Amino acid sequence: MTETPPEILCPDAFRRRLLAWFDVHGRHDLPWQHDRTPYRVWVSEIMLQQTQVATVIPYFERFMARFPDVRSLAAAEQDEVLHLWTGLGYYARGRNLHKAARVVVDEHGGDFPVHSLDAMAALPGIGRSTAGAIIAQSTGQRAVILDGNVKRVLTRLHAVAGWPGRPAVERRLWALAERYTPEARVVDFTQAMMDLGATLCRRGQPDCQRCPFEDVCLARARDETRRFPESKPKKATPKRQATMLLLQDADGRVLLEQRPSAGLWGGLWCLPQFETDDALQAWLDAHALGARLEAPWASFTHVFSHFRLEITPRPARVARLDAVGEARRWVDPAAPGDIGLAAPVKGLLDALRPFTLSVQDAT
Ligand code: SF4
Repeated sequence: MTETPPEILCPDAFRRRLLAWFDVHGRHDLPWQHDRTPYRVWVSEIMLQQTQVATVIPYFERFMARFPDVRSLAAAEQDEVLHLWTGLGYYARGRNLHKAARVVVDEHGGDFPVHSLDAMAALPGIGRSTAGAIIAQSTGQRAVILDGNVKRVLTRLHAVAGWPGRPAVERRLWALAERYTPEARVVDFTQAMMDLGATLCRRGQPDCQRCPFEDVCLARARDETRRFPESKPKKATPKRQATMLLLQDADGRVLLEQRPSAGLWGGLWCLPQFETDDALQAWLDAHALGARLEAPWASFTHVFSHFRLEITPRPARVARLDAVGEARRWVDPAAPGDIGLAAPVKGLLDALRPFTLSVQDAT
């Protein structure tokens, strides 16, 4: 149940307190806060989904150095985009970024449709909140945001019960965000809300003593800050198993396959992957003449948002491979090139490097 907010949280008082706090304690020097074009704000917003600012900064700077504008991104190969995304995770973001760049160039003449929230939200990978953030941050027009940080602040301030992914709870939070968003200083207001959530009203232990809303926050008053926002109702996370084939040729190079563009690790380069040992053996019989399977490496678990994948690496050596095909290539594990790699595959290639060196040293 949601209580009526205390009187001090009338919109004007809320904004005054928030902006006064932001002027002193907010973040004013992030790379995307300079030269705030829709393109730069958009790339930063997509990278910041699920990822912390400190992690994003070097990725953002490398990305801007290689793709300074939407046309250069639209003209790039997906492989190169995913290569610059390697390590950030949630690769659908990188694929959608690339797709959206092409839509902006092909359908909007290279200009983001920042005068229409609906047109912005229709771009691949941009929901209502991200569209609002790009519009507000790059144009100063009034637009409402409700990202994870803002949800956390509002659920705690108002003790909004229920998982924020539930439509009724989300509607309530949008209404609150709408209520507080001002006409003036929208750029600062949206940044301030995100900063408050990221630096004080943190997921784990919020720093309420330094918060400008400590005296009016319902979660704080009830000593229930850990309760809000409520978690998604839990379902048991299913576990799946996979064998990844670390097939090396006589030069120590490793065979990689590109995944189809949709689905898990879409468009990334991975090791050949099998659900059973029989499937692995059948593939070797069909493709790799004379391959010699070696003892499996220790299994490890990679956690996705909706399941856990237990991976068993199986090294093997082959003298030659029948037709490698278009979506496969041999790579040097020490220098796989400008391609996007799934995180566990990158780890396995790194683990192979000492073996590769010893093979090369011996020849
Ligand atoms: S008082 Fe604490 S819980 Fe409430 S908004 Fe501030 S930091 Fe968050």
